[in-house]
Amino acid sequence: MAAASPATPPIYLDHAAATPLDPRVAEAMQRAAAEAFANPSSPHAAGRRARATLEDARERIVALLGGRATGGGRDRLIFTSGATEANRLGMLGTAGATPGTVAVSPRDHGSLLAAADELAARGWKVVRLPLAADGSTLAGAIRLADSTPGRLLVSTALVCGQTGLRESLAPLARADVGPRLFVHADATQAAAWDALDVALLPVTSLVLAPHKFGGPRGIGGLLVRGDLDVAPLTPGPQELGLRGGTEAVSLAVGFATAFECAVATRAEAARRVAALRERFETDFVAVAARHGFAALVVGGDAGRAPHIATIAVRGCDRQTLVMACDLAGIGLATGTACASGSSDPSPAVAALDLPDWVARSAVRASLGITTTPADIATAMHRLDAVFRGLAGAGLLATPGAG
Ligand code: PLP
Repeated sequence: MAAASPATPPIYLDHAAATPLDPRVAEAMQRAAAEAFANPSSPHAAGRRARATLEDARERIVALLGGRATGGGRDRLIFTSGATEANRLGMLGTAGATPGTVAVSPRDHGSLLAAADELAARGWKVVRLPLAADGSTLAGAIRLADSTPGRLLVSTALVCGQTGLRESLAPLARADVGPRLFVHADATQAAAWDALDVALLPVTSLVLAPHKFGGPRGIGGLLVRGDLDVAPLTPGPQELGLRGGTEAVSLAVGFATAFECAVATRAEAARRVAALRERFETDFVAVAARHGFAALVVGGDAGRAPHIATIAVRGCDRQTLVMACDLAGIGLATGTACASGSSDPSPAVAALDLPDWVARSAVRASLGITTTPADIATAMHRLDAVFRGLAGAGLLATPGAG
């Protein structure tokens, strides 16, 4: 099968891994890099200017999250290198010295599962929560709180990066989040689409990363609520003593600008992208069927974020399909970027109550605000050729086989 020629640029459908940089963000970052280039800790006017620019970016993000940026008991935003580091700091930094219980689930990002393993090595008990039929775990986690003595740290992915399935937040309303129960929310895949107001959402910490909504790579943020004690993983005086190292001022400005842009058009963007995603899924299943393959949309009728379509094609190895699509000019993924290149069954899909073949053959397409109806039409045209080629070349197992 021939690779896409330069005349047919690839259709990028991997926005859950990274989005293109919004030009408004690039401009704001360029300005900050020129005007606030100094070290924010330097004791002179240029340093003070960099500090003011950094703190302004921080306050803008905290305000967009409904947090309190000033005064006693204020919510603190700690800039990190991305969501992976922020998740690690949110879990390990808030754990305290006395071991307790930590609850994770297959819908969690690898950084959270790794943090739970680190806590296990420190004597914590790890509870691996099963997924409910709708792919959520919080109800189970909150029930666990009633029967768990000591500290319980619950990790929850507000939107699962593999399937796009939303967490059901209703159980939080009756949760007594406080001195014993800690809820760490990974909002990395949710922030572009869902209103996040920590004044209403009883979580103790929350993570986001701007490269999922038109912002730069290399920065993320951990919001820590009120007076929660946090121990740094990288000691140093910066970031309220919670993360050492000279702060990246222009990245922070890019973060704040991208978040403002995303929030300003969030509801409309979510509706538009959800409609495109639905069309993508319907057409994908029809194109596969035309060539004799049964395709299934994972989580089709459950609550999902608008941008992620996870589709399994029966009898098709997921890595093979992703490679064939790449050659044809469609950029899909097998799953979260850190697990891409893997043909292993996806844990987040395998944990759902679905036939075994689904986890082995599920690929992820993720749309963004720059995806157009023409992109979907072109992708389908190419997909038709992909299925014809793969079936003809015998690269897939017999269509219909498990
Ligand atoms: N959490 C979720 C839900 C994700 O989808 C990702 C990345 O895709 C991460 C965390 C890690 O993000 P980062 O690449 O910023 O470390």
